[in-house]
Amino acid sequence: MKTQIVSVDNLSTKEHGYTQAVDLLNDGETVAFPTETVYGLGADATKEAAVRKIFEAKGRPQDNPLIVHIGDKKDLHSFTMNIPKLAMECMDAFWPGALTLILPLKPDTLAENVTAGLDTVGVRMPDHPVALELLRRLKKPVAAPSANRSGKPSPTQAVHVLHDLKGKIPLIVDGGTTGIGLESTVLDVTTDKPTILRPGGVTKEMLEKVIGPVNEAKLTDKAEAPRAPGMKYAHYAPDAPVYLIEASIIEVQKAVESIHSDHKKVALIASDLYSESNADYFFTLGKENQLRDAAHLLYEALRKCDESDADLVLVPAFPKHGVGSAIMNRLEKAAKGNWYS
Ligand code: AMP
Ligand code: MG
Repeated sequence: MKTQIVSVDNLSTKEHGYTQAVDLLNDGETVAFPTETVYGLGADATKEAAVRKIFEAKGRPQDNPLIVHIGDKKDLHSFTMNIPKLAMECMDAFWPGALTLILPLKPDTLAENVTAGLDTVGVRMPDHPVALELLRRLKKPVAAPSANRSGKPSPTQAVHVLHDLKGKIPLIVDGGTTGIGLESTVLDVTTDKPTILRPGGVTKEMLEKVIGPVNEAKLTDKAEAPRAPGMKYAHYAPDAPVYLIEASIIEVQKAVESIHSDHKKVALIASDLYSESNADYFFTLGKENQLRDAAHLLYEALRKCDESDADLVLVPAFPKHGVGSAIMNRLEKAAKGNWYS
């Protein structure tokens, strides 16, 4: 299969780009498109065979359900039911936006492989002009996980999608670099107390201002079956092993020296505060203490490690508040829980 890229930021290709994307989706094909979080790989959520193509192109495990994207709140009622009041409050406050809500699924509406057979469905309305335009033209719910090979960092640019999925999907709609750079927050509102299954662009602090106390599901609680099926899979990882390290210039310098004395090369992913550290490669996460900038740059930095010959990757830890919780969630997965010692 030949993978085409069409820019919809370019006036001369815009109209044709949307028409091509809508036609492909209607024909049961997959299309990659930008959202405000990361690029998604979409398919018609009502067609089992179309959705299967997402799993095949990504190499994604079948038991990991997909998030359904809508262009209008009214679209919800065709495939969800008994929407809790709290969920309505979240939609009013955060949609369109980086918040996925887990809602009760209306039986026999969506393809079964979208929800991995669960009786709930994750839904969001993306806050991106290209995604919204596409969804509103198509007028169907679109299942869309991130448009990367499973296990790799999510794509924040069309070229990242091309790198991972070239030859496996027919079309990439290019709308430039994505804004937030990390995936949506996943909030389960079907339980007694709302629970964050995955931290993301909409923070716990932002949610609590609107709906009061929310729980956070623990990443490392191995005794309990994961609540978001995706929680059990390794993710976001470059080829070289990643290690978290205490956020200290002295500790990072010591680690770099020790790695060099073993004749190994190290890539450092960190804020500009660490730029003088002597690491073989330095991939910036922007100015110190700018968590939103770090989120925006993180996946690109992780991808750049694969273009280097670093033997290992070090990342100084972030504070776990605000967007820092989402950044650390992704880094803990990329590092498989390993800290440098
Ligand atoms: P991704 O599509 O890779 O960005 O991941 C979507 C995340 O949402 C994964 O962690 C899924 O396990 C989670 N998810 C999607 N649908 C559901 C659902 N119905 N119940 C619980 N978690 C879900
Ligand atoms: Mg993903």
